[in-house]
Amino acid sequence: MMKILRIGFFHRVCVCVCVPASIMEQCACVERELEKVLHRFVMYGHQSEERLDELLRSVCEIRAQLVAFAGVQDADLSVLSQNMTQCCKNIKETVQMLASRHKDIHGSVSKVGKAIDRNFDAEISAVVAETVWDTAERQKYLSESIVEHLYRQGMLSVAEDLCQESGVVIDMSMKQPFLELNRILEALRMQDLRPALEWAVSNRQRLLELNSSLEFKLHRLYFISLLSGGIGNQMEALQYARHFQPFASQHQRDIQILMGSLVYLRHGIENSPYRSLLETNQWAEICNIFTRDACALLGLSVESPLSVSFASGCMALPVLMNIKQVIEQRQCSGVWTHKDELPIEIDLGKKCWYHSVFACPILRQQTSESNPPMKLICGHVISRDALNKLTNAGKLKCPYCPMEQNPSHAKQIYF
Ligand SMILES: [Zn+2]
Repeated sequence: MMKILRIGFFHRVCVCVCVPASIMEQCACVERELEKVLHRFVMYGHQSEERLDELLRSVCEIRAQLVAFAGVQDADLSVLSQNMTQCCKNIKETVQMLASRHKDIHGSVSKVGKAIDRNFDAEISAVVAETVWDTAERQKYLSESIVEHLYRQGMLSVAEDLCQESGVVIDMSMKQPFLELNRILEALRMQDLRPALEWAVSNRQRLLELNSSLEFKLHRLYFISLLSGGIGNQMEALQYARHFQPFASQHQRDIQILMGSLVYLRHGIENSPYRSLLETNQWAEICNIFTRDACALLGLSVESPLSVSFASGCMALPVLMNIKQVIEQRQCSGVWTHKDELPIEIDLGKKCWYHSVFACPILRQQTSESNPPMKLICGHVISRDALNKLTNAGKLKCPYCPMEQNPSHAKQIYF
């Protein structure tokens, strides 16, 4: 995994690698077999339910007949006895039939196994360096990443068990933010906004510094949930609207729409031009916004490092398997050094591009989208604000080297 984590940084080496038929196709092959099995399972389920219901009905009938005969003397039991014999026969037949059909499904299940064997390489250890996990320190990193991932997923008891078994000691201060995030997200998924709102209000200043509109969006959603309750909530909605006041200048348009919708409360928002306010995907969206902004505020990455490395590995693996084969065929095994390096650069897509934070050495501020880092011709990098400040009569003297240059030749290097 360490290898996979670092793939973004290696120099490009031209090697002719034919990428195998895309993984998606292989997945689709297995999926087709899987669908067949699932279909048979569903059919089997329906069939057995029907047959068992039938049997149950006839057993109930016989029981009713038995109860009816209970008090009658000299009753003719021959019909009843015939019915019972027939019923027992039916039960036996049904059980046999269900058992044999169940056996038939085994065939389809084993076909899935064969499809997996046919489409995927079972042996991937060839691309793994044996020495990757050989120090206690590295194993500790791996355990910590797994524990962190489990905390992020809210699987607290599993994380605790892993800590105990692997001897990893996790600081409470590392655990706490995940516990809190999970508690709030859990509530949001149940459409309970209060914990998130409390959190956003208590972190208002820091969220504003991040340019986050989380608090407004939470209030907005709370207001919408009042609207969807109908005219009975009118007073409460009107009172709640005062929460929008601090956001009046920033979200004027949104607030106007929310207030406009109140006119239609009596007839139902769902029948009004404002029906889009009730879209249900807003809950998933607010979970995403909350996760993103809360993680940024707590200095955590939005995605779990383990998920990112796993996803990167899945993308890189087919290429690695192929290059390994090419290297072996051409007998140039020295190319694969088995150190922390891969023989080729693998493009993992833009989603996997990561950058460190750049602070301007002149203004001593972190660069941002509105004030990005600029590379001067001499190679020194400063923020755009600093560049503008240092520019005098269309000329700029680099504060470091000090080369005189045209500031319009500086290149933006990030964002
Ligand atoms: Zn310079």
